Amino acid sequence: MHFDLNEEQRMYRDAVRNFARKEIMPYAAEIDETGELRWEAIKKMPELGLTGLQVPEEYGGANLDGISAAIAIEEVGYACGSTGLSLAAHNGLCCFPITRWGTKEQKETYLPKLTSGEVLGALALTEPNAGSDLAGGVRTSAVVEGNSWIIDGHKAWITNPSVSPVVITLTRTHPDAKPSQSLSMLLVETDADGLDIHPKEKKMGVQGSPTHQITYDNVRVPRETGVLGAEGEGFYQTMETLDGGRIGIGALCVGLAQAAMDHAIQYAKDRETFGKPIATYQAIQWMIADAAMEIDAARLMVYRAAWMKDQGKSFTKEAAMGKLLASEVAEKVAFNAIQIHGSYGYSREFPVERIYRDQRLMTIGEGTSQIQRLVIARRVLEEYGLKAN
Ligand SMILES: Cc1cc2nc3c(=O)[nH]c(=O)nc-3n(C[C@H](O)[C@H](O)[C@H](O)COP(=O)(O)OP(=O)(O)OC[C@H]3O[C@@H](n4cnc5c(N)ncnc54)[C@H](O)[C@@H]3O)c2cc1C
Repeated sequence: MHFDLNEEQRMYRDAVRNFARKEIMPYAAEIDETGELRWEAIKKMPELGLTGLQVPEEYGGANLDGISAAIAIEEVGYACGSTGLSLAAHNGLCCFPITRWGTKEQKETYLPKLTSGEVLGALALTEPNAGSDLAGGVRTSAVVEGNSWIIDGHKAWITNPSVSPVVITLTRTHPDAKPSQSLSMLLVETDADGLDIHPKEKKMGVQGSPTHQITYDNVRVPRETGVLGAEGEGFYQTMETLDGGRIGIGALCVGLAQAAMDHAIQYAKDRETFGKPIATYQAIQWMIADAAMEIDAARLMVYRAAWMKDQGKSFTKEAAMGKLLASEVAEKVAFNAIQIHGSYGYSREFPVERIYRDQRLMTIGEGTSQIQRLVIARRVLEEYGLKAN
């Protein structure tokens, strides 16, 4: 067992770090204020493979290993939570399923566009009344008419649809089958008749990452080319997609937490009270010690899940553990980073205020902390021969 990145991974980390700190980080406050991603930077991302981290090279991707892909999201997240989230969703939730289950024709149709740096992809699972319970709760449905599926329904809290050519949509296609076998992933082009992408949600954080509701009113998708993978497999595809997505969100949390800690240490070195820098006080040092230790643990867990994925091992439990730990660490580290800044931490003039708002999503999106615990407990109890409900 060894814990070092290899030479290629180190070089890639340094290249992404340089790019993100030059092209994104100085604009993070502006992205937050205006609610707009910096497309000038996104358009340059294909040069580093960021818009197709694990997409094969023939479709414009970088075909990277899972650890390099996690590092890329971590570094972009360090620079800007909004850009990190949209990029994580693009890679993990849209490029991944098309790469994994797409036919040659579907890959040729969508992946070159998705990796071009001109757009970011989207996956629509959640609905106004279904988030944690997708198998039982999804009401967006489709019926066959001639050679098409006709979709009606309503999705909510979807990242990137306004900047995507296609929204992969989890749809109830076989209502008579048992819930876990009644869903399919349909490829819905965003210029389709009857598809309405609502105005951006007004959110607490990740302001630059566009989040929308979507309504489907008799939206027609060709049965021949519009189903991703096999009909009725959508729930299992969703679970596999979320396993990988959680590595991305975990990595994003590590980046956010690291940024919060770095800002806090810089501030603690500069700020003096009672004639001394506050970094010299044990109360401050303990917060820094906890942050350093917990970020280290979260990073190791996230990288381990990515490594297991690369090895072809089952990594559901490890991805859930990494995402759960990293999101809770990001919350605590960002909270304490504000504490270390005193009143200035509460001001928009310092990045920790934004980081605190941005990280708050991470215990909710791609499965809440309660759902991660449920996933972990189920796997652990199975190892002990027990079946959790
Ligand atoms: C900014 C943002 C971006 C997002 N991007 C996307 C996206 O791109 N695509 C997409 O499909 N979705 C997206 N989501 C939606 C997100 O994944 C869901 O909101 C999340 O999965 C939780 O679902 P919910 O909000 O319906 O909560 P609910 O499922 O209603 O849960 C409410 C509460 O009950 C708890 N709970 C539920 N069931 C259980 C249980 N069995 N045991 C214990 N506790 C339970 C939950 O943990 C939570 O605390 C996004 C959300 C946000 C805010």
